[in-house]
Amino acid sequence: MPMLYEFRYLAPKSVAELTATLREHASDGKILAGGTDLIPNIRNGLQKPGFVIDIKKYDGADRISYGADGLSMGPAVTINDLLRFKDARDRYPVLCSCAHELASHQIRNRATVAGNVVNASPCSDMAPALLCLDAQAVLRSGNGERVIPFSSFFTGVKKTVLQPGEFLERILVPAASAGVTGRYLKLKRIAGHDLGIVGVLMTKRDGEIRFGVSSAAPTPVLVDTVTTKDSPDEAAAKVLASVSPISDVRGTKEYREHMIGVYARRLLAEVR
Ligand SMILES: Cc1cc2nc3c(=O)[nH]c(=O)nc-3n(C[C@H](O)[C@H](O)[C@H](O)COP(=O)(O)OP(=O)(O)OC[C@H]3O[C@@H](n4cnc5c(N)ncnc54)[C@H](O)[C@@H]3O)c2cc1C
Repeated sequence: MPMLYEFRYLAPKSVAELTATLREHASDGKILAGGTDLIPNIRNGLQKPGFVIDIKKYDGADRISYGADGLSMGPAVTINDLLRFKDARDRYPVLCSCAHELASHQIRNRATVAGNVVNASPCSDMAPALLCLDAQAVLRSGNGERVIPFSSFFTGVKKTVLQPGEFLERILVPAASAGVTGRYLKLKRIAGHDLGIVGVLMTKRDGEIRFGVSSAAPTPVLVDTVTTKDSPDEAAAKVLASVSPISDVRGTKEYREHMIGVYARRLLAEVR
């Protein structure tokens, strides 16, 4: 059995209390959302925070809304909250397709959209959609707010632009991206829930094609160089030129490259 150790649990009840707590524990605190990444990491000894700071307990943390600015999701919005939200299903079908591919129903009940992107795994299922839909991360700390497009949010494997003492307060998917259509193909070792060997999303808006690719590089990848004039082979070549998959327990680099090409060709052939 892995060894457990003692940490203190804190549950700030307001954004002001949360930012003060994060400032105080910038070096020894870890935010807890759904815990589906954090708790296994603590159990496996990969992370040993002195303070676990629950982000779900302040009023409005679980707010999901749609308005003039688009879709807004607070840090406690779970994957299933997103899938249950009618405006998201009607206006952002691509986001919901990716959400539906994330893990199992039970995990989706706990896992948050924010936790998925802050965890910054190359195999994140939410990242391809957020990249293709021009979504933005609203970050907050004691120093105020900054808004970062997801195209600049991921900096490496499990690394983001978030600074110590800062948290992801909201994810914004712009109203201009409502109605974008597309399809997400995810290759898994088993039918049902599993982390992806590769995931390829293709979106289409007013004739503009984009690809979002997961498990294919240190960070999730956005490819916006493909056009509807490209042949499926040309599209696959452009997507492959933007990725650099590795070999790991889930698949080899060669298998990943092959399947990214297969999926890119298949998706482009569908829209043509
Ligand atoms: C069995 C299983 C299957 C899974 N399958 C998939 C899958 O198919 N696809 C996939 O993409 N993922 C999968 N995951 C990973 C995981 O479920 C997701 O990454 C999940 O969305 C993480 O969200 P969470 O709320 O649980 O985050 P947590 O575990 O609470 O947090 C994750 C990390 O982000 C930080 N954090 C969380 N919220 C914030 C915030 N608002 N601001 C700043 N930091 C924050 C935490 O400190 C922690 O470092 C799986 C996990 C398990 C256990």
